[in-house]
Amino acid sequence: MIVDAHTHFWFKGFMPTAFHRNTAEEWAKKEAGRKPEMILPKIEEGVTDPDGTDYIANMDKAGVDASIIMMTDFGTYWTGEEPAVPYEEQVVLFGEFQKKYKGRLYVCAYVDPRRPDCAKIMTRAIKECGLKGCGEFTTKSLLVNSDEAKPLVKVCADLDIPVVIHTRAGEGINMAGADFTIPNHNHPGHIAGLLKAYKGLKVVIAHAGYPKWWEAAIQVAKGYPNCYLELSNWNFGAINLDDFVPILACMRDNLGADHILFASDHPSGKRYRSLGFLPGWVNFFKELPEKAKSLGYEFTKAEVDMILGENARKLFKL
Ligand SMILES: [Zn+2]
Repeated sequence: MIVDAHTHFWFKGFMPTAFHRNTAEEWAKKEAGRKPEMILPKIEEGVTDPDGTDYIANMDKAGVDASIIMMTDFGTYWTGEEPAVPYEEQVVLFGEFQKKYKGRLYVCAYVDPRRPDCAKIMTRAIKECGLKGCGEFTTKSLLVNSDEAKPLVKVCADLDIPVVIHTRAGEGINMAGADFTIPNHNHPGHIAGLLKAYKGLKVVIAHAGYPKWWEAAIQVAKGYPNCYLELSNWNFGAINLDDFVPILACMRDNLGADHILFASDHPSGKRYRSLGFLPGWVNFFKELPEKAKSLGYEFTKAEVDMILGENARKLFKL
């Protein structure tokens, strides 16, 4: 069973317009003569999916059996603007979506911990809507081990659900990141305090510190059998995939193949369908035993099966 443990899906109105406006401004900077207002009308259309058909077709093409969708909260605490569909409604719609594509799509709920009704929305998402975990914890500035994050972390601990935490230097549409210092709120080091404070809390280190913090991610996860590394973004080019094999072997040697999750961070919408990176990323793992051998490393088929889906199936109780 192949499980993509980190993807994104948005229906129309799930993201605030301000988020798309920021994207338009960023893209306009990259090409002379391009204006944000030329781009903005097309942005939401490019990343949203009307009913999931297109999304499932993309999974089928790559041989992915099930995908876990991460909610995002780009509202008040990110852009200063709320989305057209409030988050308390989004969890209900995602619950229905999960039922519609039973066994193919699963959803993790997330709202910014600073929302006064954070615990209420999260509890409802898990208890009433049947969502599978918490994620993606990603913010513009909030430290995951801060007092402000506590209401969210506590509800995850109480409900015994995995919390998926973003660890890439940049966040949102910023893939590369620029600040690689430890104070960056996305640094995996901040997760250590959380694991110490909440014994047994299931934590997924999303992106496994891509591209420069993988060793820090290992150090944090080591010694906590309830902490997992998740591999989305590692196919995005900052590192050659041949050079990723020794990194992956190091993760496996330190944590065990049963603590690594395959994931893509693939967003919904036709713009991303056209990129078509999912089949290649799945194939990298399918071909890993052979590829590793040619580089002087060893991965067994059983280890690949764990990474590609077995671990996520067990962790998220799919
Ligand atoms: Zn992320």
